[in-house]
Amino acid sequence: MPFASLEEINEYYKKNIESDLFKTVQNVVPGEGNSQADIMFVGEAPGAEEDKQGRPFVGAAGQFLNDLLKSIDLDRGDVFITNIVKCRPPNNRDPSLEEKKLFAPWLKAQIDFINPKAFVPLGRHALWNFLPDVTISKSHGKVFYREKDDRFVFVMYHPAVALYNGSYREVLMNDIKKLKDFLDENKGKNKQTEQFKMF
Ligand code: URA
Repeated sequence: MPFASLEEINEYYKKNIESDLFKTVQNVVPGEGNSQADIMFVGEAPGAEEDKQGRPFVGAAGQFLNDLLKSIDLDRGDVFITNIVKCRPPNNRDPSLEEKKLFAPWLKAQIDFINPKAFVPLGRHALWNFLPDVTISKSHGKVFYREKDDRFVFVMYHPAVALYNGSYREVLMNDIKKLKDFLDENKGKNKQTEQFKMF
């Protein structure tokens, strides 16, 4: 179904996804950023602060994501940031497979509208959605080409891991530099007509 704007997508799926999660949230968190972004960051589901504000990645993990973006001269407004599931599951539990399936068409509509060149799934749960066979501990900092939709996937740990274990801060800071290298090397290229250079 063709949509005229991201807002129209949000209104449509708020009405048409039948999930109990809508009953327990303070705010739905559809995602935000540049509607023509080349890069889409995708987490799993909003947390408490995101639920309060109705915005993705605005809690402690989000602050670190902002630092990571800033370290490669990107701003939140340059990219699009969202989650697979747009409602916070109660008590911070992981969303179920069924919930992920229910919300998948919403993410798909955002992808179709924005048409990003690359996805950055945040953490292993989100990664599984894009590349089920890839292990984050082996492949973080690498770019994969997804033939299925002619897009790239950059593998990265969830920024929250650095909050629990400080040594991951450096790992994430180093990895995001590789995302910048990838973007710089492919600047101005059109993914439909030219082969992007891979790591
Ligand atoms: N973690 C996520 O996966 N998503 C958010 O929006 C915030 C924290």
